[in-house]
Amino acid sequence: MRAPLSEITAYMEEILDTAHGFYAKNWCLATSGNFSARLSTGEILITASGKDKNRLSIRDFIAVDAEGKPTQERETLRPSAETLLHCRIYQVVPQAKAVFHSHSVYSTVLSQAYLKDGYLELSQYEMLKALEGILTHEVTVRIPILPNSQDMHQLAQEVEELLRNHKDLKAFLIANHGLYSWAGSLSTCRRQIEALEFLLECKYRGEIFDK
Ligand SMILES: [Zn+2]
Repeated sequence: MRAPLSEITAYMEEILDTAHGFYAKNWCLATSGNFSARLSTGEILITASGKDKNRLSIRDFIAVDAEGKPTQERETLRPSAETLLHCRIYQVVPQAKAVFHSHSVYSTVLSQAYLKDGYLELSQYEMLKALEGILTHEVTVRIPILPNSQDMHQLAQEVEELLRNHKDLKAFLIANHGLYSWAGSLSTCRRQIEALEFLLECKYRGEIFDK
């Protein structure tokens, strides 16, 4: 990694705090979830594949280029299996500095339930104001849902098309899988995932009253 050590250390510490916090909320159990930040060199610092997020440490990061290839060989580490999705988000959204991905129960269940629509909507919640650029609860935010796939090149292409067609997007869901969000800073990205996970739980629980 060619970025200043102070920058790398600061990003690692913020991601570690976020990952440990998300694990405690059951949003990235069983080595699921991944976290990345864009360094000032353009490299992407991302969590390594298969790491327990509760025990994630500074040894569990790897730097990759815009195509997801490690910029330094680390024999024992592979970048996250979903690295290409992070790469496409950074490529299409130049202001993105962080991409976080959670695997909660609510994002998993709701993304499958709404897959036939291709999206789900969150309306009139005060918590929507935690999303970057939203100033009122009087808004409807549409979260697109992509079908899940193990073909990361295909999924990355779908992510790229989605982002090119929806410039103001802040998040998307992958069906039966989880939630992706990105932002101009690591702290904003964390806030968005926390808000969206809260909102997805509200939507799931609120639907009981719609019936
Ligand atoms: Zn995932």
